[in-house]
Amino acid sequence: MATKKLKVDSECRAFNDEWTWKYFFTVVKDKPVCLICNEAVAVFKEYNISRHFTSKHKNSNYEAMSEYERKQNVESLCKKLSGRQNFFKKGNTIQEAATHASYIVEYNIDKNNKALSDGEFFKQCMLQVCDVLCPDKKNNFQTVSLSRKTVTSRIEAIDKNLTSQLESKIGQFKICSIAMDESTDINDTAQLVLVIRGVDENFEITEELACMRSLKGTTKGCDIFREFQEGLLTSKVSIINICNITTDGAPNMTGKKSGFLGLFNQNYPGNNVVFLHCVIHQDALCMH
Ligand SMILES: [Zn+2]
Repeated sequence: MATKKLKVDSECRAFNDEWTWKYFFTVVKDKPVCLICNEAVAVFKEYNISRHFTSKHKNSNYEAMSEYERKQNVESLCKKLSGRQNFFKKGNTIQEAATHASYIVEYNIDKNNKALSDGEFFKQCMLQVCDVLCPDKKNNFQTVSLSRKTVTSRIEAIDKNLTSQLESKIGQFKICSIAMDESTDINDTAQLVLVIRGVDENFEITEELACMRSLKGTTKGCDIFREFQEGLLTSKVSIINICNITTDGAPNMTGKKSGFLGLFNQNYPGNNVVFLHCVIHQDALCMH
């Protein structure tokens, strides 16, 4: 098997320039390609290439040509092919740039709390500005997709990417601490926020908002403990890596019996977690 492979490799290593006018072939992306029909041949072997020409372009004008005529025709065929390649290349880069551009707009929409449907409004503005400044570039702007559906899916993609980045960092934590606070948002819903700060084996420190969970109904110790556990689960934080939990001093957090602290100790007996409940510690944790 090994010797056979070696034989094929040594036979098909190079393209012979004569094949260009003899069989109307050129090389595109490391493959011999027929200039007449643009079909690629698998190996750089004269036999395969000549066979393509004699079988597929039998009785064609090209077969009847003299050497001089062939050489002349090859030149124009090559030009045609590279023109087509450039066209596709250009199409691709514009498409890529348009996708990149739509990500930029969507990132800004999200970051500035704009409505997802604003994407279409921004596009309208861009096109009108374009009419004034650079009407010849209008097509490029037209390809930037900012429909509500696209904006939503892009933001989801950004969110997924950020989440998986954080997850992989959390997975490498050797030890970590958590700062936690519960507060009511503008819609009168209690939100529990977990901020995680961890260190990996290279002593690289990461601090990030791990999750925010809505507390529907009551905000008792058991509610907080439940959402805390759910939060750790979704963020893939391992409980044995936690060395410190900082909360505020409210009874639902620090209560030794039915507060978060009490429930934590009852559920994880023998843990070595240090509990802090002081604003200064919390500030210090979040600032470093
Ligand atoms: Zn061909």
